[in-house]
Amino acid sequence: MIGIFGGTFDPVHYGHLRSALEVKDIFGLDEVRLIPCANPPHREQPTVTAEMRLQMLELAIKTQPGLKIDTRELDRYDLHQVPSYMVDTLASLRQEFPTESLLLFIGSDAFKHLTGWHQWQRLFDYAHIVVMTRPGFERQQLDDFFKARLAGVNELAQAAAGKLCFQQVTQLDISATAIRDIIARKQNPGFLLPDAVIEYIKQHKLYETR
Ligand code: ATP
Repeated sequence: MIGIFGGTFDPVHYGHLRSALEVKDIFGLDEVRLIPCANPPHREQPTVTAEMRLQMLELAIKTQPGLKIDTRELDRYDLHQVPSYMVDTLASLRQEFPTESLLLFIGSDAFKHLTGWHQWQRLFDYAHIVVMTRPGFERQQLDDFFKARLAGVNELAQAAAGKLCFQQVTQLDISATAIRDIIARKQNPGFLLPDAVIEYIKQHKLYETR
């Protein structure tokens, strides 16, 4: 079973890293692939280059063999300059892993907007979707499309794709937006993201202005 964790990672922080590690253990995954987005269709464009976001990610996961970086969205953008649609990413992963269970992890905020994603129903043709929730999270009323797909953690291994699962994870109250603000205000972002990434940000003078 392979986990997929997409994001802008502008910059990567302990919120991303802790939840990626935690779901790897909860679901007994062989690996979690962190997939930096080149050109996110649903939000503002990242403030630093894709190459720098990738380098920060590399520094962050160096000591965690279960976390991998997958650059297919960046590679696709270099070739075709198309938006990074998750459905295309999952289709290409499915080609590479024809029979493996693929688990796409998304935050509960992202799930609220899932039906706005490009060809969102097709996501389930290629992967299971796991919504990472916070303690106290109250699930909205699900429509029949989602209800029919609901499954528990242990059921995901039985199929390669198609299920929807909600899983509570430790969500540290950290966001890349807050980190960029802290740096722009010349405050110390220590303990919110790995020191190696903080060093990189300093060296390249990233996020110094808003
Ligand atoms: P920004 O503040 O720039 O919007 P972000 O910190 O939310 O960025 P993204 O790279 O956009 O980070 O998020 C990628 C994925 O990581 C999303 O699925 C999001 O729900 C999840 N995520 C972000 N922050 C956390 C956190 N603190 N704990 C758990 N998951 C998180």
